Parts: sequence; C-alpha cells; structure tokens
Amino acid sequence: MYFDKKSQKRHTKTQNQEIKSGDEIFTIQRKQTTLISDTGDIETEETVQSMMIGDIKVDSVSKIFGKCHDCGLLITYLNKRICFCGKIICTNCAEWWDDDNRPVCSICYKALKKKKFWSSFWHLILSPFIERREN
Ligand SMILES: [Zn+2]
Ligand SMILES: [Zn+2]
Repeated sequence: MYFDKKSQKRHTKTQNQEIKSGDEIFTIQRKQTTLISDTGDIETEETVQSMMIGDIKVDSVSKIFGKCHDCGLLITYLNKRICFCGKIICTNCAEWWDDDNRPVCSICYKALKKKKFWSSFWHLILSPFIERREN
C-alpha cells in the first residue's frame, strides 16, 4: 500500500498533569497522536508516561485519591485508608486496630489504646463487686 507521508495529517496533543506531593512534583504526560491519511483513515495512538506512588503505577490523576493527612504524601485508591474520625491516611501512617478489625490513624490509635487500658483497668477494679452482686 502506498502511503504518502506528506499528505498525512498529524495532530499531536500533549497534556501534562502535575501533582504536587510535599516537595516532589509528579508529572503524568499524556501524548495523543492522531494520524489522518489521505484515504481518510484515522489512526490514534496514545502514550502515557506513568509515575509510581509507593509501588502502585499511576497513569491517571483519577487514580489518585488525595493526600495523606499525616505525612502529606499522595494516596491512590489502592493504598488509601480511612480512619473512623474521617482522616484519610496512607498505608504507612495507618495503624491496625485489631478490636474493630480496621485501620485507624496514629492519633486515634493512641486514644483507643488509652481507652482500652482504662476500660480494662476499671473492669478489673469493678469486677469483684459485680460478681458479688450477682451472688
Ligand atoms: Zn501518610
Ligand atoms: Zn483517626
């Protein structure tokens, strides 16, 4: 097939998306090339330069959920953790709270630990009285 390069129309659209994360700037470059041949065939090709957040490959801003409230780093939909206080945290900052089987932020983790300590403490003190009342 004869293909005259000169009669081809080429449109290249480059789109850069910059995302700031702390001191770092991530760039996702999306390049869309459209080739229109003289016969009217349209061919489009898209190349996307992706970036890595942690060990997750991100090739679209839509994959980014937001920023970690604790460390300020970007969070993807895959590594986001939401504490019951509403804080969005990354996997590195999240603590696992076994009692509720859920991730919590470091502040809530400390508070929960304290609460658990005091509730078990009061339980220890009060339990002999509770048992006596039952008899
Ligand atoms: Zn974090
Ligand atoms: Zn929290």
